Amino acid sequence: MDMEVDDGSEARVEEKGKRLVVMLVGAPGSGKSTFCDAVVGASRRPWVRICQDTIGNGKAGTKAQCIKSALGALKDGKSAFIDRCNLDREQRAEFLKLGSAQIDVHAVVLDLPTQLCISRSVKRTGHEGNLQGGKAAAVVNRMLQKKELPKLSEGFSRITFCNNDAEVQAALGTYSGLAPSDSLPPGCFGQRSQDAKVQVGIMKFLKKAEGPSPVVSKANSDQSVASIGSSEKKDSSLEREERPVLPNAPQKEESKGKENAVQPIDNDVPTLAFPSISTADFHFNLEKASDIIVETVEQFVPKLGNARLVLVDLTHESKILSLVRAKAAKKSIDSSKFFTFAGNIVELSTKGGLNCNVIANAANWRLKPGGGGVNAAIFKAAGADLEMATNERAKSLFPGSAVVVPLPSTSPLYNREGITHVIHVLGPNMNPQRPNCLNNDYNKGCMVLRQAYTSLFEGLLSLLKIQEKSVTKRNEEFLHPSGLGLDKSVGNGDLKNKRDDADVSLSSKKSRGSEDEVEIDITHPRTGYSDSGIQTTNRGMTKTWGSWTQALYHIAMHPEKHKDDVLEILEDVVVLNDAYPKAQKHILILARARGLDCLADVHEVHLELLRRMHAIGLEWVEKFLHEDSELVFRLGCHSAPSMRQLHLHVISQDFNSVHLKNKKHWNSFNTAFFRDSVDVIEEVNKNGKAMIKDDKSLLSMELRCHRCRSAHPNIPQLKSHFRNCQVPFPAFLLQSGRLVRARDSN
Ligand code: AMP
Repeated sequence: MDMEVDDGSEARVEEKGKRLVVMLVGAPGSGKSTFCDAVVGASRRPWVRICQDTIGNGKAGTKAQCIKSALGALKDGKSAFIDRCNLDREQRAEFLKLGSAQIDVHAVVLDLPTQLCISRSVKRTGHEGNLQGGKAAAVVNRMLQKKELPKLSEGFSRITFCNNDAEVQAALGTYSGLAPSDSLPPGCFGQRSQDAKVQVGIMKFLKKAEGPSPVVSKANSDQSVASIGSSEKKDSSLEREERPVLPNAPQKEESKGKENAVQPIDNDVPTLAFPSISTADFHFNLEKASDIIVETVEQFVPKLGNARLVLVDLTHESKILSLVRAKAAKKSIDSSKFFTFAGNIVELSTKGGLNCNVIANAANWRLKPGGGGVNAAIFKAAGADLEMATNERAKSLFPGSAVVVPLPSTSPLYNREGITHVIHVLGPNMNPQRPNCLNNDYNKGCMVLRQAYTSLFEGLLSLLKIQEKSVTKRNEEFLHPSGLGLDKSVGNGDLKNKRDDADVSLSSKKSRGSEDEVEIDITHPRTGYSDSGIQTTNRGMTKTWGSWTQALYHIAMHPEKHKDDVLEILEDVVVLNDAYPKAQKHILILARARGLDCLADVHEVHLELLRRMHAIGLEWVEKFLHEDSELVFRLGCHSAPSMRQLHLHVISQDFNSVHLKNKKHWNSFNTAFFRDSVDVIEEVNKNGKAMIKDDKSLLSMELRCHRCRSAHPNIPQLKSHFRNCQVPFPAFLLQSGRLVRARDSN
């Protein structure tokens, strides 16, 4: 077969950069299709996924068809994913011939634990190639026995080995971030030595997987995110895998509904990412430094609560990462509290899928930008804001000390990566070319390095304490309001006094008594307060509103006591900024009537109130559009709100917010769970009540772009996609006034 791509487009490609053929290499169930779909959905580079299972008009086809299709894609200037197992050299050889001066051939090897691939393949349904159920286990095992890992000598220019989910995520970030003109350095990345014991474990596992009852393994229970000592973990996870769990054991949120989905990194916990201090520019001995890192981490892990520490370096080949991994594994440090991660510290969320709220900077003593490495990268990425904020805190640092700097919300690092604090830390210097060299005095050097890590981790703990205090204080305020006097001119929005002739002390005349309310006692585990939870009944269902969900209710009942939070107080409605906005503009229109906890309480008598809430929402939209005419809004309620008291969300559709952190957040605004107020009004008018779509599965649906509906594996990938997605909004949103935008925009 002639493998030349004779398209006459070499010159065009030259300026655009090289096209790529990326061969996925991995067993069924290793997540190849998920990987390709995620990159194709997120990337600015044009990609085509070529899958042998569907190449014949949606049915399985031949290798020759795949090659033909790849040639066509390359001819069109696109890059191609070869989504088939490609597990042996012979299978790969034909595709390697696609390479040329203008076309690089890469391999991405999804070398995940065998038992995980088997378990996923066994459990999945609706697989394109119908490889699922009991037969999948035997097929996967057979294929893996013949596995030959790819080598550069076969003709690949780059091979990336992924041995766990974090590495898959990192590779995903790398390929998703490739612009049409970008190229990746050649070489072999992330390869580990082979683990001979795996086959023995598989055979034991298989006996169970093929047994009479459909026993599946605890899928990826070692989904440890680049966790410490991953090779050691492999063995111990095999031990764990041999204990069967029930097929209906709860899956992790992200993997539900998508059997071979890449398991997520748990991204909702406070995280400090830190680089190795003093080992690069300051030439500190790596063995000694790794001992100190592991010892100090070990000391702090028990104090972290739900927070975690992540040691970061640019590549998987980092010596310090592997030393620390091995030593931490030896000490059995909890890998959910501390792990290593390969990635750029200023792109961990967007490129690596790892959310960190705090990062450490290996600073210089003057606390100034410049130099190289981490310091230069962090100051560059954070912009002038970090320099100013740092200046306000400190002018210089001693070796062994650290300073915590809150990152202004205007900083790109805050907005893009969700980083709220930078902790500058200065270590000892062993480099004679740099100031204050310790001349090989490792007694002093080790002491100072230990101090540096201690200061850094203390810095994180101080932040965690502050956060905990403010949460407790906020909740105390809601539980025990301080009873400020009435103030008619409360709030700080432009509209706030426009209608201040309203009698703010009144509740709605229409308000009905809350005869369904029963005070119940909940003793708060932390504060020991006897909190008042509330039970309400609507549509025959009893719901308990815990004390934590009462904030909006208290504001609606006593807005004058929350004057810093509210934008506008009316007789029947209060307007306030959402405390955790999920978009650039996100406000809440709160009903003040008692007994209106949520949509389920709404009847015909509330029609006028609903219309007013919508109309007031539109007034605010108009105001926002004056400030920024590009914004687009949706107004609506959650079917099953998390907070008590009927409220309408008015939310801009950019979803540009660090508070938008998980699937639940996204899906609550982008599935049928969100009930547009225009629909609610129509339904209440017609049927006397609104439709409630509170099926919990809506919140765990896969993440899809609200414009083009493409699917994405995690929130960072989704965000980086929709930031650039220009596809018009889907038709159903453009109808019936569900989307509100400036009049002259289309
Ligand atoms: P829902 O799920 O519809 O009840 O949404 C409740 C909304 O209230 C969420 O968007 C929260 O971010 C927001 N929220 C929670 N607590 C507060 C508060 N104290 N003040 C204002 N908004 C809040």
